[in-house]
Amino acid sequence: VADHQDCPLCRDLGGAVLFDDGRLRVVRVLPADDIDAARFPGFCRVIWNAHVKEMTDLAHGDRVHLMDVVFRVEAALRDTLNPVKINLASLGNMTPHVHWHVIPRYAADPAYPKPIWAVPAVPQLGTLQRDMSQENDMLAWSRAVTAALQR
Ligand SMILES: [Zn+2]
Repeated sequence: VADHQDCPLCRDLGGAVLFDDGRLRVVRVLPADDIDAARFPGFCRVIWNAHVKEMTDLAHGDRVHLMDVVFRVEAALRDTLNPVKINLASLGNMTPHVHWHVIPRYAADPAYPKPIWAVPAVPQLGTLQRDMSQENDMLAWSRAVTAALQR
């Protein structure tokens, strides 16, 4: 129980929820939650709702379901954003609660070709630079991810 009380993914949603089926949720990472979000358009997380530390703590059917959702999010982001690469990452050193980062990468993004965590965060620069066309793009991919999961 002590784990849960200190866990950000038990305490908070971890972003704007695009999909939730009870077992897991898919969120759009918000600048307020993670400073990198504004610099990496399309950054989503697939978060197991229960506090579970490792993939091998999940039952087989739950693992299969989780990865199926990760791949559906990946496909929706590829279709709508056409990134150079998708990064799938599950680290959990800071937050030992099963979650996958799904991160579209672009040749012009601030860290490419390194992992997004390889560059220091720039305070809210991306937020200041955001304009209406980017807002519209964001809505398009967010809706595509939700639609892909409801099929
Ligand atoms: Zn947790």
